[in-house]
Amino acid sequence: MHQDIARVLIDEEVIEKRLDIIADRILEEFSGRQFVVIVILKGALVFTADVLRRMPIPLEIECINVASYHGETKSSGRVDFLDAKLPLVEGRSVLLIDDILDTGRTLVAVEEKLREQGAQMVKSCVLLSKDKERAAEVEADHVGFHIGDEFVVGYGLDYKGLYRNLPYIGILKSEIVEASR
Ligand code: 5GP
Ligand code: MG
Repeated sequence: MHQDIARVLIDEEVIEKRLDIIADRILEEFSGRQFVVIVILKGALVFTADVLRRMPIPLEIECINVASYHGETKSSGRVDFLDAKLPLVEGRSVLLIDDILDTGRTLVAVEEKLREQGAQMVKSCVLLSKDKERAAEVEADHVGFHIGDEFVVGYGLDYKGLYRNLPYIGILKSEIVEASR
């Protein structure tokens, strides 16, 4: 697995340190208020597990599955909710966690859906935010790291379903991407 990586962008130690800060800031933001954590699967799984274990408070965890279609084939972009039932959020404070903010469509669609379902407060947290022009105007309330506009894997993020278990964020070798085309 490691031999498929051209370059480590953010190593394990740097991620660990940043998580301490993010966890503290989130706790401060909710300042004693009860909240439910909603994880956008599967990309945010690893990040969420690590960041939530830095929050010594009773909280609930719910998951949602979405599929997004970008770019070439569907220029308008679309986010589909794949679960038969969404978590109950009416009147509740929600912390929404995703892996990466790219076009922004996912975060916008999910936040809108949660508000539609009656969430009282929605705060968002992403591990990574790509510095680029977004399709939807949005920024997360909490961001782990800002990165350039390149395709990354690891620490939850996949390429064709693989590499989510890498302990760091990296860039794949071009031959790995080309070979699977
Ligand atoms: P959006 O474009 O809606 O902001 O991001 C949608 C999803 O695209 C992210 O949750 C993530 O699953 C995927 N994505 C965007 N950029 C990358 C990337 O650089 N690497 C990987 N592995 N997934 C990405
Ligand atoms: Mg995702």
